[in-house]
Parts: sequence; structure tokens; C-alpha cells
Amino acid sequence: MLEVKALSVRYGRHLALENAALQVKSGEIVVVLGANGAGKSTLIKAVSGLVPHAPGGRISLEDQALHALPSHKIVDAGLALVPEGRHLFSTLTVAENLSLGAFLPRTRAAAAESLEIVFSIFPKLKQRLTQIAGTMSGGEQQMVAIGRALMTRPKILLLDEPSLGLSPLLTSELFRALPGIAQRGIGVLIVEQNTHQSLAISQRGYLIEKGCIVGEDSAQELLKSPAVQKAYLGG
Ligand code: ATP
Repeated sequence: MLEVKALSVRYGRHLALENAALQVKSGEIVVVLGANGAGKSTLIKAVSGLVPHAPGGRISLEDQALHALPSHKIVDAGLALVPEGRHLFSTLTVAENLSLGAFLPRTRAAAAESLEIVFSIFPKLKQRLTQIAGTMSGGEQQMVAIGRALMTRPKILLLDEPSLGLSPLLTSELFRALPGIAQRGIGVLIVEQNTHQSLAISQRGYLIEKGCIVGEDSAQELLKSPAVQKAYLGG
């Protein structure tokens, strides 16, 4: 289980994340919903060690403390981030991008098995191994980015706005694959503005506003909640 406690991030004088706490269990899909600038990316980057957090923050994965580790050690501990905008090597092939995910000594030997896991989740990628990543559609590129993160054999997968720039149809194709990842025992934490589609595949959700987590409930309750309807679903 991933457990985050008292996590705060400052950019200069601006407090972008204040005292955030959340949990993601193995095999669970959890979404953090918030508007533009609410602090979603800051939260996910702080958990991954990509932005420093204020003293006192605690991040642990199955009782291993991550909050003092550099980001590459956090990946090695089992936390993989798919960043906003995907950050693929656009001139390399799909196969090359995927194999770059297996860079850790503990994952290199298992790369062939990891690749089969990726194909079981995204069968389309098996037919596209020689395609140059930059020539793929946005949805396909997101699949490669998630596949590359899966090659690190994570316990927890962090997705920063995976639906950004995708049509509702491509988003639903992508989101349909996420339960298959969770069924392998991997916890999935998504930060999203796409309330409907992300709640539909999640078990639980948190609401973030102005850097603070202001609500938490089951996905079913959040979909019904008048506050969520008003703030996020245009209800
Ligand atoms: P979006 O959906 O637009 O990406 P978000 O919810 O992910 O928004 P963040 O990117 O985490 O929000 O930003 C939270 C706040 O922190 C915003 O006010 C943003 O302007 C500010 N911020 C983010 N990164 C930096 C930075 N490197 N330096 C200064 N301020 C920053």
C-alpha cells in the first residue's frame, strides 16, 4: 500500500500543496480530481520525488519510507510515474521506448516477461513494435508511456492526466485498459480533470482544491455527490 501523510510543497512563497494525505492499496484504482492549477501535478510529482516537499511529509510503500529517497530509488522501490505529456522518445520505435523502461538491474532480466504483460494490457502495441513513437496517435502514445512505466514492474503506477489531449472515445479506450493493470495487483493513482470517465473506472476518489484535499469517498458516492456534480460535472 502507498501511504502519503502531511505532504506539503512550496514554490517560493506559494504553497501549492498543503498537508496532503492519501492511500492507494494494491489492486486499487484511485483518482484525484481537481481543476486547473489545483495542485494535482504537484502532488504526483512530490510523491515521485520530482519536486521537493516540505519537512515532515511522509511517503511509504509497503512500510518502506520513500520520502528521503532520490527519484530513481523511488522507481526501484516500485513507484512508476507516467508524466503529463508522456515524454516518449519520439524518434525511437515503440520497442525501443518500452525497453528503456526495463533499465533497472532488477527488471532487466525480466524484460521479456514484462513485455508480455504490457501486450496483455495493450494488445495493439504488439503489432506496432517497429513504429516510430512520434508517428502514433495521442492515445497510442499514452499506451506506450504506460507500457514503459509497467516495464519497471511497479507496485504503484502514477498517471498524471492521461486523458489530456485525447478525445472522449480514445480516453475510454485507454481507461478500459486500466482495470487490467489493477487486476495484476498494481495500485493505480490517477490525477485527472476528466471526472466522469475517471470515476467510472476507479474505486475511490479524492477532491483537491487550491492545494488541499477537501474530500474523499467511493467513486460511486462521488459520482452522486451534489458538490462533485456542481464543481466537476457541470450539474
Ligand atoms: P493542471 O491541471 O493545469 O496541470 P494542476 O492541478 O496539476 O493543474 P499544478 O501544476 O500542481 O496544478 O500547480 C499548482 C499550483 O502551483 C499552480 O498555481 C501553479 O501555477 C503552481 N506551480 C506549479 N509548478 C510551479 C513551479 N515550478 N514554480 C512555481 N509555481 C508552480
